[in-house]
Amino acid sequence: MKRLSLALLIVFAMPVSAQELATAFKSTEVAPGIHLVEGADGFGGGNISLLIGKQYVMLVDDGLEPIAKILQEYVQGVAGRPINFVVNTHVHGDHAGGNAYFAENGTVVVAHENIRRRLLEDADPAGGPAGLPVLTFEDGVNFYLDGIEARVFHLPHAHTDGDAGILFPGLNVLQAGDMFFNGLFPFIDLDNGGSVNGYISAQRRLLEMTSPDTKIIPGHGPLASRADLEKDLATLIEARALVQAMVDDGKTEDQIVAANPLAKFHDNYNWGFITTERMTRTLYRDLTNGQ
Ligand SMILES: [Zn+2]
Repeated sequence: MKRLSLALLIVFAMPVSAQELATAFKSTEVAPGIHLVEGADGFGGGNISLLIGKQYVMLVDDGLEPIAKILQEYVQGVAGRPINFVVNTHVHGDHAGGNAYFAENGTVVVAHENIRRRLLEDADPAGGPAGLPVLTFEDGVNFYLDGIEARVFHLPHAHTDGDAGILFPGLNVLQAGDMFFNGLFPFIDLDNGGSVNGYISAQRRLLEMTSPDTKIIPGHGPLASRADLEKDLATLIEARALVQAMVDDGKTEDQIVAANPLAKFHDNYNWGFITTERMTRTLYRDLTNGQ
């Protein structure tokens, strides 16, 4: 492992993934031409999708830097040809970590302008400077890959300030990036431009794009339905209100944590990276603007 970025340290700090990094990948075809790719025997990073058109091949996200070569060989094997494009859903190293390796092997990296801006400051989450996007967008960009249409769209200040979701309208598949952690407390990265209001707005926008049978690929967690996203959105709105009520009562951050207003969600939503305490502190910090 040649580089341990902060994002990777965060990943490694997750007790839930006391599991090792994946040494192999597996894929499931969720709709004709779209495969969900994930680690087969360990943590492979955030969820990845692989689009295989007749001529063009595209990845959405490319996992962790140390296992980029394994991923690249795997997806190229599944597709039967080189990967033309990779689109990043956001800047974190468990989603963009393979950028440099893929770029060095001929893949065009596409991402929101804010991802490039952040990577110019610190390229580690993309596996180094070679992983910087060479094609960026502000509001969105559309791909037409031999009959598969992919609409990449930006949702501002949600998980970060460079988030993209991808809608495959012909196939009724939506990739949500880390604007959806299926069944887990979400990581809202306030230090990278994320916000709770933005996250809630983003999930509402995502819901508007779905029908009851839309397949939703979350950033983390299993393939989801609209009902799953509705449930997590309702949880976040209620969690925010519970913390807001205590802020309004003049409670300090530590008093609120001690009172544990999110206790009712703990058994279902607590996980190693975003514990109930961390979710509470994130909501407090967001609601009080970091005071
Ligand atoms: Zn992330």
